[in-house]
Amino acid sequence: MVSTADRYLRFTRTAPGRFLTRRLGLPRPEPLRRWSPVHPELDGPLLRLTAAAPCPGLAAVLARTGLEPRTGPGTAGAAPPPGAPAGAAAEAGGTARVTAVSHGAPASGTGAEATPPPGSAAPAATAPAVSVAYAAVVVDATGIREPEELRAVHAALHPVVRTVATGGRVIVAGTVPDPDDHHQAAAQQALDGFVRSLGKEIGGGRTVNLLRLDPGPAPGGLAEAAGAAESTLRFLLSPKSAYVSGQTVTVGPGRHTTATDSGSPTGTGNPGSPAGARATGDADAAATATVSTATVSPSGPLAGRTALVTGAAGGIGASVAETLARDGAHVICLDVPAAEAQASALAGRLGGTALPLDITAPDAAERIAAAVTARSGGLDILVHNAGITRDRRLANMSAGRWDQVLDINLSSVLRVTDRLLEDGVLRRGGRIVATASIAGIAGNTGQTNYAASKAGIIGFVRALAPRAAAEYGVTVNAVAPGFIETAMTAAVPFAIREAGRRMNSLAQGGLPVDVAETTAWLAQDGSGGVNGQIVRVCGQSLLGA
Ligand code: NAD
Repeated sequence: MVSTADRYLRFTRTAPGRFLTRRLGLPRPEPLRRWSPVHPELDGPLLRLTAAAPCPGLAAVLARTGLEPRTGPGTAGAAPPPGAPAGAAAEAGGTARVTAVSHGAPASGTGAEATPPPGSAAPAATAPAVSVAYAAVVVDATGIREPEELRAVHAALHPVVRTVATGGRVIVAGTVPDPDDHHQAAAQQALDGFVRSLGKEIGGGRTVNLLRLDPGPAPGGLAEAAGAAESTLRFLLSPKSAYVSGQTVTVGPGRHTTATDSGSPTGTGNPGSPAGARATGDADAAATATVSTATVSPSGPLAGRTALVTGAAGGIGASVAETLARDGAHVICLDVPAAEAQASALAGRLGGTALPLDITAPDAAERIAAAVTARSGGLDILVHNAGITRDRRLANMSAGRWDQVLDINLSSVLRVTDRLLEDGVLRRGGRIVATASIAGIAGNTGQTNYAASKAGIIGFVRALAPRAAAEYGVTVNAVAPGFIETAMTAAVPFAIREAGRRMNSLAQGGLPVDVAETTAWLAQDGSGGVNGQIVRVCGQSLLGA
């Protein structure tokens, strides 16, 4: 685990740092709070707003995400926050309702939202109380079908956006643009631009994401998609998604499970996790708030699953292995034979298995199959994380550099996946998570080989996902890391490294655990409705935005 080398971030937390950054208008990154067993949830209430006809089932799902519903101060007659005009929603012509629920707060209501039936006019919003700092605000905009109705999103969020706590979350729930209805498509696509812009301006370590519910062709699909979004909402509404912002995640009515088996382990176990990250809140504590675990959680969402992580000896892969083990999986840690000592040490700590193997070996899939079969008869989670860079401008790039990067980062992923799927080694209900990169979206000087390989991963995921779901009952998704503090990025020249760190909405690099938490969410049984998605873990990097 690389502790943060981000000296600038630490400097901005000092008195001279605060003075200078203010005077010079320099970025002032807010230290992000990651998940830790002593502090597993966001602090404060969750405000639910409905901008149009409500999504059936969404309120119930939110109430199941471990949040205790209560009748919040915003439900009736509360005063608006400072600076916000009273009745702003009504004034702007919007229709919105607010309901507050909070983490662990004593229930004083039923949790049922007093929203109007679909199609009826919703009453104007009442603004929430002044004093509340909301941990999260969720706006249900799934019912918006016309651009004029977008005003309700403005009306809902305008009075409360300043009340979102530092490090809090804003989630807009929309639905997929309908290719047969250009009015609905315009309105729903507009939410994407809205979310991306709010993510860039909101600051303070807050994140803003769009959850797109895909109802599919079946009647009642929207409610089903809302049910399938539970694991995604749990992730986005937790400290685990600290470095995921400006993203659109689509969830369809795929196979999913309920709260009991998609819940995150909270508060118990993980004796190796450092305490103190919560108390200090400083950059160092945040940087070390990883899920360094020595035990496998028997009650975690991945309990009983067997996972294979390639490139697990260090960097992001080691953190992925630790996080999957924290959530209950038996992890097979694959890395090149030269890294066997590190992979074995990690596997030993996690109660997993080391597999020294070059993933480009012609018999790699067979050897994985043999290791998996010996262990548990089948594989449930396949994480393609191994990757390398061999940077040169194209004019200076040898065929050898090109081939090596393409083979490790892309071709081996296809070869191994094909064999494990076709031979039934990857079981029904399985999860494949590949590793792309923002370089595969935006391109990068000196990285024609690397960016090609990572863009190839995106093509692979999008094409295979529907077929793998239909034929094998397996989902295929990718994480696309931005600037993550690892040995790979530590080797980048200083000026480029510093630019990479700051050029995102959170003005800092991510940590391996940010990618690991995203992978663990996609690996859950409860994430069966998430398929074919490329989720950027980049703090909303400006590159490729
Ligand atoms: P890293 O170099 O720290 O770790 C990569 C691991 O892959 C190493 O343990 C290495 O031994 C292993 N590996 C390399 N070739 C292999 C092979 N042929 N067979 C088996 N294992 C092999 O890199 P990282 O920063 O942790 O990156 C992990 C993944 O994330 C890579 O796919 C990388 O492209 C991607 N990524 C990283 C960043 C970042 O900022 N660090 C950004 C975007 C994408």
